[in-house]
Amino acid sequence: MIVDRQGRRFRNLRVSLTAACNYACTYCVPNGKRLVASQDELSAEALARGVAYLIEAAGIERLRITGGEPLVSPRLEPFLREIGRFDLDDISLTTNGQLLERRLALLLGAGIRRLNVSLDTLDSDAFRRIARGGDLATVLAGLEAARDAGLKVKVNMVPLRGQNLDQVLPLLDYCLERGFELRFIELMRMGHLARDANAFNQQFVGLNDLLALIAERYQYVQTDAPVDATAMRYSIPGLGHFGVIANESVPFCRTCSRLRLSSTGWLHGCLSSSNRHFIGDLLDKPHHQALPALQRLLVRALADKQDLAFAGGVTVMKIIGG
Ligand code: SAM
Repeated sequence: MIVDRQGRRFRNLRVSLTAACNYACTYCVPNGKRLVASQDELSAEALARGVAYLIEAAGIERLRITGGEPLVSPRLEPFLREIGRFDLDDISLTTNGQLLERRLALLLGAGIRRLNVSLDTLDSDAFRRIARGGDLATVLAGLEAARDAGLKVKVNMVPLRGQNLDQVLPLLDYCLERGFELRFIELMRMGHLARDANAFNQQFVGLNDLLALIAERYQYVQTDAPVDATAMRYSIPGLGHFGVIANESVPFCRTCSRLRLSSTGWLHGCLSSSNRHFIGDLLDKPHHQALPALQRLLVRALADKQDLAFAGGVTVMKIIGG
């Protein structure tokens, strides 16, 4: 097992199935152009082989499928088939929900029981302005279908000053009523926001401001979360829970156990580092050559982690999947 001086190791792997997305969210894509799949994306089989090697070399226990938008990818079905054979504690998926209703049977058939659905507003005009793609009613129908199918759902919201702060309470009401756990994600200095401090500062909403807003309607208490959890978790007694991923306000680098694999075969040990390590060429090599080479790259990827706090990164979220 590869462990660093702070005792950190990779346990959680996020695989970006494709960089393509049917949205172009303002905080993710500055020019509003939806990203298409890159020519050199790996096949579903190669990506799954990468996952198998990473389970063996790094001790990965939990896998999250992300993107881009994973549900737009034709690789989804073969990828799910391949990874269904692996010994993992948990497989989950992050989606914008646009194709959720249509792809639900496939996800259920593959044994997926947990979903994160990104939804920044319940207001259809604001939805169009922020997501710049898709349709709010379709996402809401997907969420209802997932709930009816018994899936455990978390809803991800990025609070943005001037764009959707009026939606914090309506979204929390909506989630509490349906048994979804709302996760607020503090805006991260990623991609263009890493270079444009003004744009970041104007939109950023920190943990304290967010909690003050929630306190206007709800009483909450902080609850325990697993040691390497990135979210702080709160209970609203009798009604449910919500979480905050407070990358800026309460950095979690000291306990971060995440590793990311891009759809083109690059490993990222840290969102805050522009370093990345190519494993695409290892996947066709025999096991006795691939594994030691992969272990060397994993040592470097682990060393990319920040000691204390997220400092921003020029990598675009939709390439490596948040
Ligand atoms: N398309 C899928 C989705 O919408 O959930 C998966 C990929 S998306 C990049 C994953 C998550 O990252 C979404 O919840 C999105 O809101 C979040 N995200 C993207 N850019 C971000 C940023 N700069 N700061 C915080 N969250 C961000």
